[in-house]
Amino acid sequence: KGTVVLAATPIGNTADASARLVTLLEQADIVAAEDTRRLYALANRLGVHVGGRVVANHDHNERGKADMLLDEVAAGATVVVVSDAGMPTINDPGLAIVRRAIERNLPVTCAPGPSAVLDALALSGLPTDRFCYEGFLPRKHAERMQHLRALRAERRTIVFYETLHRIADSMDDLLAVFGPDRPMALCRELTKSYEQIRRGSIAQIRQSVIDEPPHGEMVLVIGGASEQEAARALGIAVDRQTGDGAGD
Ligand code: SAM
Repeated sequence: KGTVVLAATPIGNTADASARLVTLLEQADIVAAEDTRRLYALANRLGVHVGGRVVANHDHNERGKADMLLDEVAAGATVVVVSDAGMPTINDPGLAIVRRAIERNLPVTCAPGPSAVLDALALSGLPTDRFCYEGFLPRKHAERMQHLRALRAERRTIVFYETLHRIADSMDDLLAVFGPDRPMALCRELTKSYEQIRRGSIAQIRQSVIDEPPHGEMVLVIGGASEQEAARALGIAVDRQTGDGAGD
């Protein structure tokens, strides 16, 4: 039997590519890439010759591709799965092949490396002992508000991915739901030469987004609710359910 290998790629700094990634790209029988042009661009920057077959494995064809790739694994091939940046499966393709490999009892392993979640969390200065990853917030305001309200009592540090198009609206909604004082960090262009971490309260970061709109890729890290905030948020939720008027 061969193996599926999920391989992390750099999120902005080519030098973060691991020695293992380089070997895998050189030696894989098949590289399943989210975007084949981006894979070749990375290989060029690394000075790597991709020896095996390269196939596209993006969100739209992933499920269909998984069985075809796993037939090759069953026949002895090493299939390396890469996304455009960071860890495959983390808001990127890869999960379909992992699930099918588990179902088919075929080996799957990981060559770990950069991922914006952990990079941002570690740099945020907020508690790292317990955290939750929320991916991208919903695009629509009403859904975003609902999603954030459901997190009001969350005690763990919360990590969101965000885009420059929505950051201003998201900051308004974060302020409305979590209030002005929660500590947070806006981490942008991680590992790149213009890396910038803005740390402060939600109100301060919102103001900084208005004064100096952030460009590039970004991650938001929000401090979890204090015990009092969580109790208050849960109290309100209980009130709504029971209608008994207890709480504040
Ligand atoms: N699989 C990737 C990972 O492991 O981080 C995430 C892919 S997701 C489609 C892309 C999002 O990740 C961006 O919109 C941004 O929120 C975050 N991201 C990726 N690279 C980043 C970087 N260098 N700096 C800040 N955020 C980054």
